[in-house]
This record gives sequence, C-alpha cells and structure tokens, in this order.
Amino acid sequence: MANIKTIYVIGGGIAGLSAGYFARKRFPQAEIKIYEAGKNLGGRCQTFYSKKLDIELDNATHVILKGNKYSKQFLQSNDFINTPFFYDFEKHLTDINRFSHAELILRSIFNTDGKSIDWQCKLKLAQKLFPYLPSQLKIYYSKHSLKKDLILPLCKKTKNIFNNMPLRGIEITANRISKLIFPHKEIKIHADDIVISALDAHNYSKIFGGVKFEYNRIVNIFYRTSQKLALPNNADMLGIEHTGFDWLFVTDNTIGVTISNINKNLCCNNDWAIAIWKKICEIRQINPAFIPAFQILDYPRATIMQDKINNRKRPNSAKCEYKNLFLAGDWTMKNWPCCIEAAIASACRAINSI
Ligand SMILES: Cc1cc2nc3c(=O)[nH]c(=O)nc-3n(C[C@H](O)[C@H](O)[C@H](O)COP(=O)(O)OP(=O)(O)OC[C@H]3O[C@@H](n4cnc5c(N)ncnc54)[C@H](O)[C@@H]3O)c2cc1C
Repeated sequence: MANIKTIYVIGGGIAGLSAGYFARKRFPQAEIKIYEAGKNLGGRCQTFYSKKLDIELDNATHVILKGNKYSKQFLQSNDFINTPFFYDFEKHLTDINRFSHAELILRSIFNTDGKSIDWQCKLKLAQKLFPYLPSQLKIYYSKHSLKKDLILPLCKKTKNIFNNMPLRGIEITANRISKLIFPHKEIKIHADDIVISALDAHNYSKIFGGVKFEYNRIVNIFYRTSQKLALPNNADMLGIEHTGFDWLFVTDNTIGVTISNINKNLCCNNDWAIAIWKKICEIRQINPAFIPAFQILDYPRATIMQDKINNRKRPNSAKCEYKNLFLAGDWTMKNWPCCIEAAIASACRAINSI
C-alpha cells in the first residue's frame, strides 16, 4: 500500500512506540497517531514517580542483552555488566557458572516454569544466543530510568501521541475496521488508513476478540537505600537460589528484588517483603537494624504463559482476519520470549507487513 494517509497505533507500550518509529521511516508521507489508555508511556516497561520512595522508579527491573539487536538500536545506555553472579542461599557460596543455574535463567527469561516451556521457545533462544560472542551476552539492567534510556528515544519521531485515550470498541465493515470508538471520540477509518494493534494480549482479546491466554505473574520489590549497597563479590546483579526470590539488583538508591512465575496465590504483603529484606541482610552478612521504605509492584498478567499450549495460540504473522489491521506486541511473536526485544521486533514486522 503506497498511499497510506493515516496509521492509527493502539497502545503506547514498547511495541506501539516502536510501531510509530518504524511507520515514520517506511511511510514518511503518512500521519502517525498513537493512542494510549494510561497517563504514562511504556506500558509494562515504564518509569513513574513513586510517592512511597520519593524517587522516580521503573515499574520493574528490566534486563536487556547487548546482543539484542532491535533493543540496541534505541537503548541510550552503555552501562552493561559482564556477567551476573549467582548465590546459593543454603551453601552461602557465589559462582558465575550460568549452566548450573539454567533453570533460574530460563524461568526468568520466559516467566514460565523451566520444565513446561515450549521446546520451540527454547530452540529460538538457542538460535538467537548461540552465535553470540561474550561481549554480546553483556547485560543492561534498568536503573530507574527506562524513560530516559528507552522510552524517549522510541517516541522521538512521533508527534501525535495521545494519552488517556483507551480504545473501547471497533466497528467492522466488510472485513475491515471502519471505526475506532474512544470514550469521547469516534474515528472513521478510511480506505487508505491502517490500524496497528499494539495492545497486550488481554486487552486485545477484550476489544478485537480471538484467543484467550493464561498468564504468569512477576513481582518486584524496591527497597529505598541511602547509598549503593554492597552484595557478595561486589556484584550489581545477583541470581539467588533457594530463597523464594530470584534476583537482586543494586542501584545508587535501591535494592530491587525480582521473582518470576511467582505462585498466583502467594500473598505478597508487607510482612512478606520484610521477611525478604531480612534474607537480603543475611546474604550481605549484616544485621537487619531497620526496615527501609519499600514498594511492592505486582503484575498478575506480567506475560503470557510460554508453555506449549499458550505458545501455539500465538499468531504466525502480523496479519489477521481484518484486512487493515496489523498486530504488534510481545505476545504476537510466536516462540520468542515475551520481552522488550520481541515487542520491538513485532512492531518492525507489523509495519513491514503492510
Ligand atoms: C514485572 C515485569 C518484568 C519484566 N522484565 C523484563 C525484563 O527483564 N526484560 C525484558 O525484556 N522484558 C521484561 N518484561 C516484559 C516487557 O516489559 C514486555 O515484554 C514489553 O514491555 C511488552 O511491550 P508491549 O508494547 O508489547 O506491551 P505493553 O507494554 O503491555 O503495551 C500495551 C499498551 O497498551 C495499552 N492499552 C491497553 N488497553 C488499551 C486500550 N484499550 N486502548 C489504548 N491503549 C491500551 C497499555 O496501557 C500499554 O501501554 C517484564 C514485564 C513485567 C510486567
């Protein structure tokens, strides 16, 4: 389609903002408009002001590999670490052997129990990682400003981004989207317009219909610290075995805890966060003199479950039953881990499919 007039992108997460970027490149004559339901951009990957901790905070610690070529185009940070350390809470030992912690690493990448991850997902991961040099396995983790490091560079080229604009419904005429319905506005979609859905899987199925997925939960806790705290081996990032939490990340003023695929019924309340703080002190070999301010961020639908059943439900391409609708979003990339890299790659695929 050469004469596209307007491209409407629904969703202002990483996939939606990337779709805006790639659309501007491929169709410079077209008007690009992004509609986001929330007040912040970035979706599951955003920076917000935490009243509780009185600092700007990322909604979760996000890890990106240096070898992730889509993410690398936009990432404004060169703050990579070589390798994570691992700590065995039972033996009180650290090591750097990734292979002995494969289960922890796979669960963190796919947010799914290692044994039930679809083998096609594992294969995709191996294909993407195998040729990489050690330098490409270096790790970036977000230290409070995903906004500066990723979100702002992604939206730089898109002028029309509308926040607080949740799409409520659509009208279909002859297998095409003919109207987008927002709370106080309706937009007619003309023959030379395109719609990109960059919604998460749950909201996509609510609005456009289609398959329903099962989801897995991720919980992060951020403890506010007055300075950068030391972990064993002076590690910035520590994978933990046998404690009930997976990773510790230090920044200049927080310690972040991440737990992937956490039990759906576990009550992640203040007592639980305090118990985790005590374990962190034990790892640091100090007495828990006081409990710092902390914030728990709980995502029951952090990603779709990436087992065989759910992975097979993911679309095979960006095209769908409606001729003028193209799909983006981490969940649309069959076999890929649901991550930032998949979200950006999906946006590139959606725009190239037009
Ligand atoms: C706790 C947590 C930890 C994670 N850790 C990592 C990590 O370490 N590394 C990594 O690479 N990835 C990680 N991820 C996954 C990563 O955040 C996602 O894969 C990525 O952000 C998905 O982007 P997206 O644009 O596809 O979806 P989303 O970010 O979900 O974007 C969808 C957007 O659509 C908007 N929306 C919803 N309904 C409507 C509507 N009706 N109208 C308009 N807009 C709507 C939403 O508000 C949202 O902004 C993590 C995710 C979570 C939750």
